[in-house]
Amino acid sequence: MKVSCEIIKDLLPLYHDGVCSNDSKTMVEEHLAYCDSCKAALLEMDDTLCINKAEQNLQEAEVVKKLSKRWKKGMLKSLLEGMLFTILAIALIALVLYFFIGFRIIPKPY
Ligand SMILES: [Zn+2]
Repeated sequence: MKVSCEIIKDLLPLYHDGVCSNDSKTMVEEHLAYCDSCKAALLEMDDTLCINKAEQNLQEAEVVKKLSKRWKKGMLKSLLEGMLFTILAIALIALVLYFFIGFRIIPKPY
C-alpha cells in the first residue's frame, strides 16, 4: 500500500513516541523503507527531541541541584540559628528562674 508523505508525517510524531497502533506502525515502517525524506524527518525528530529533552533535563537538574543546595544551606543555617536561639532562651529562662527562685528561697525576714 502506497501512502502519501503527508499521512506519514502526521503519524511520525505518534510513531516516534511509540503511541500509534500496530497498523500505523507497520504502515510508517513500510513507508520509511523507501522514503528517504520521511526517514530524514524521523531522524530529525529524534535529534531535536533528544537534544531538547536532554538539555531541558540538564537544566532542570541543575536548577533543582542549586535550589536544594541553597535550601540545605538555608535549612542548616536556620536550624543552627534555631538551636542557638533555643539554647539562649533556655539559658535565659533558667537564669531568670534561678534568680527568681533563689531570691524566694532566701528566708523571709520574719
Ligand atoms: Zn515519505
